Amino acid sequence: MDPNQTFLDMFEAMKNEDFETARELALALQHWFAKGGFCPHHFTRRAMQTYIDLVLRRTSEISREPVFSLICQHCDAGEGIKTEELAIAEGWSEIEPAFDLPQANYSGICPVCKETQENEIDDNQ
Ligand SMILES: [Zn+2]
Repeated sequence: MDPNQTFLDMFEAMKNEDFETARELALALQHWFAKGGFCPHHFTRRAMQTYIDLVLRRTSEISREPVFSLICQHCDAGEGIKTEELAIAEGWSEIEPAFDLPQANYSGICPVCKETQENEIDDNQ
């Protein structure tokens, strides 16, 4: 893609209050940079990121992306964990998308159940 054009389109979309398009383009740009893509020559990388962050913040309410929600495969833990990073930091494992679950869109194994499982494996040996 052409990040220059994408950036200008994003800018234009924000001006026209087309937040859905602006958000899509912001995400595309973020993805582009995450892959190590070059920066449009009119802008510094920092200015670019600041604006992308701003667009993502301003458009977050209209986002149709699924919000991260998590439930343990063995118990009902997981409430209040808002991001996958947080879940991993708290010791969750086997986090995977579970879009057919009514309670949450990700399932995993909570730290408590993980420990129980590990103890069971030990007992069997
Ligand atoms: Zn659990």
